[in-house]
Amino acid sequence: MKVKLIKPTIGRQEHSLYVDEGRMEPLMLGVLAGLTPPDVELVLHDDRMESIPYDDPADLVAITVETYTARRAYEIAGQFRRRGVPVILGGMHVSLLPEEAAAHADSIFIGDAEAGWPRVIADARAARLRPRYHGAPGAAQAGGVQPRRDLFKGKGYLPIALMQFSRGCRFACGFCAVSQYFGRKHYLRRIAEVVAEIESQARRFIFFVDDNIASDRAALRELCHALIPLRVHWISQASLDVTQDRELMGLMEKSGCWGNVMGFESISPASLRDARKSPNIPDFSHYEREVAVLREHGMQTWAAFTLGHDHDTLDSIRATVDFALRSKFAFAAYNILMPYPGTPLYRRLAEENRLLYDGKWWLHPEYRFNHAAFLPARMSPDELTAACHAARTRYNSFGCLARRFSDWKTHLRSAARALSYWRYSLLFRKEVFKKHGMRFGLR
Ligand code: SF4
Repeated sequence: MKVKLIKPTIGRQEHSLYVDEGRMEPLMLGVLAGLTPPDVELVLHDDRMESIPYDDPADLVAITVETYTARRAYEIAGQFRRRGVPVILGGMHVSLLPEEAAAHADSIFIGDAEAGWPRVIADARAARLRPRYHGAPGAAQAGGVQPRRDLFKGKGYLPIALMQFSRGCRFACGFCAVSQYFGRKHYLRRIAEVVAEIESQARRFIFFVDDNIASDRAALRELCHALIPLRVHWISQASLDVTQDRELMGLMEKSGCWGNVMGFESISPASLRDARKSPNIPDFSHYEREVAVLREHGMQTWAAFTLGHDHDTLDSIRATVDFALRSKFAFAAYNILMPYPGTPLYRRLAEENRLLYDGKWWLHPEYRFNHAAFLPARMSPDELTAACHAARTRYNSFGCLARRFSDWKTHLRSAARALSYWRYSLLFRKEVFKKHGMRFGLR
């Protein structure tokens, strides 16, 4: 039996194909491969950098779907199905919109695939694939499943090992699909299994792709203690409230944490309240305290902002860039607030009749990456799109890159840190401009 695992790309640029130069390992597909019986032949096709050989025979095709890649994922599924190859779709987007996904596949997997994947393989082998499979949300890689990293070789992924310690988040930000999917629960993997996975591979730089690694501080404390003797460097995604815990910040630093993706979202308390961004709201100090703590612990922070909340104006967006430059973040992502399906934000905008692109921007042929998909309250959609683009352009100018770099507490702390700053800032700068205005799907 032969199974193809496919990671779709987002789409294409106006006049050329898009190759994602900042691509990272598709961890979940590696985990599925680790769960597949050894007598099954597995091939990984990464649509972000290689073409998919549709005519090459296969008995099953499994495609992981995110909202941004849904249009392309359905195109790929259509190609295989026309050739008579059964297709199963899974991933967060499928779990949030099962009816939509089911129209493009022979089978869909709703929920976490780990527990049910061996069943899918057994059914496909017997040619009786069911239309739907369900897996309850839970801890990653239960039972010590190891991803098949051998499948990642030769695909040009960044030299960072992706792993997962926890899933879910205890907060409930209104724009975030994570808390909808996991119901505000936080699932932990056994630390011994994480340690075993780190020791089983050669890379010493790890990205824990947790939704919020700081959701359970006691668990993060334990993980840090386990990481200290391993002498790795790591990054992850964490909510800002972790900066209130100075002891934990010290422990993160000692365990090799170089920084986290952190959702600052907005510098306006009114917008934070709109977004229900509760980890940022208590004792709001305009982030002075939080930024000082992060710098003190040497964190090279990737600050994420969402722009277009009902209290945001063109001036407040410009002020957000000033703030990020003053704070000397390693990188800042200026994302337009996106109405992800299934979120409270999506429901509110739908009720207020403010969704554009028929409420399905991820499938709409006219939608372009990084464009506003709803009617903002205090500017037009085009103004919001242009303001976000201007924010990215300014933050990523060479002058601003050099200004941000001059920080002895973070980027200049060591030669390795300085090197990593330039390597990734220049790479992500390039990707930001390449992706702007991109079409979804290739057709
Ligand atoms: S803190 Fe982050 S992961 Fe948690 S609900 Fe908010 S946006 Fe989502």
